[in-house]
Amino acid sequence: MQAPNSPALADAAANWTGAYVHIPFCARVCPYCDFAVVQGQDDQVGRYIEALVTEISVGGSWRPLDAVFVGGGTPSRIDPGLLVALIERLAEVHGLNPDAEVTMEANPEDWSSEKSDGFRRAGVTRVSFGAQSFDPVTLGTLGRRHGPADIMRAVERARTSGFSSISLDLILGTVGESLVSWEATLDDALELPIDHVSIYALTIERGTPFGRAVAAGGPSPNEDDQADKYELAVRRLGERGFVQYETSNFAKPGHACRYNLTAWAQGEYVAYGLGAHRHLDGTRSWNVRRFDAYLNRIESGESPIANSEALDAIAKEEERLIVGLRRLAGVEAGERGRRWLAGSAGQRLAEAGLVKLTEGRLVVTDPLKADTVAREIVGA
Ligand code: SF4
Repeated sequence: MQAPNSPALADAAANWTGAYVHIPFCARVCPYCDFAVVQGQDDQVGRYIEALVTEISVGGSWRPLDAVFVGGGTPSRIDPGLLVALIERLAEVHGLNPDAEVTMEANPEDWSSEKSDGFRRAGVTRVSFGAQSFDPVTLGTLGRRHGPADIMRAVERARTSGFSSISLDLILGTVGESLVSWEATLDDALELPIDHVSIYALTIERGTPFGRAVAAGGPSPNEDDQADKYELAVRRLGERGFVQYETSNFAKPGHACRYNLTAWAQGEYVAYGLGAHRHLDGTRSWNVRRFDAYLNRIESGESPIANSEALDAIAKEEERLIVGLRRLAGVEAGERGRRWLAGSAGQRLAEAGLVKLTEGRLVVTDPLKADTVAREIVGA
């Protein structure tokens, strides 16, 4: 079983194939969220799934898939039978490798025993719950509809249904969350039979209710507070056998997310649905984000693609370094990385112990500084 942070695993992912499918429906839009989501459109679910099936079919076949990721939005709001139709269509069009990982995102409050069994039978192997916190006050601030007991029930049900990997997403640094509350959230999460944890610091996005509140002078998350909570999380998860393999991601051996590894290794992936982004043949492209525009385009036989960008060799190399340095396995230094490391900025950070060259790979020793180091390299 390969360690989640193994360089061999990180590099192998560059040859894997992924497919992303976006399900945008949410019961209510959370005040921090800037994803492509819709609220109050559940009567359009059937129409949207049909559009997705059309988009998958019209796009034509590619290569058998190693990883499928059904994200949102809230995929767990739809009926498992609809997901069967999507997974079957993906398998018919591209093929699905026998050991393919099929992940879906889920909200704990939707996860009844029937849905849990139904999604497992639909072919989902890995479920990622948007838990965010175990503190009811913090959950309220984040506008979430579930409580701690919903998370515990959902995880137990998923385990009973036989998912091979269960992950929790947690958010640290919400305004009003104390260090004690965050520690309790970590402890509660680690009491559960989970295999993977993703930890994100709350960021304030313009155009969201939180963004408007901060722009109007309201309190915003404190970076020092978030750094302390992150350090605590890295320590606590490590003590409990979770191996950090990317700035935000921790897994037990054998449970690294294959779809994410593919994206971080600049592997290729197709994508379908509202606002979905893909990477194919050296080109990145993304779909329209307006719900009615997406449906109308598909139904009238037009492409849903809003825009695309062909990466030249320089952009590709910069992206390789930026994304790769967030992995604990680091990234093949390449000419640009070596040149930077030999220069004064590289030497300064190497002497400070922040970066090192290990068997030709550039590794950032403090994952929180990975973006800063990457910016220094691409800006040099
Ligand atoms: S449930 Fe998730 S996708 Fe939906 S609004 Fe909230 S954060 Fe965004």
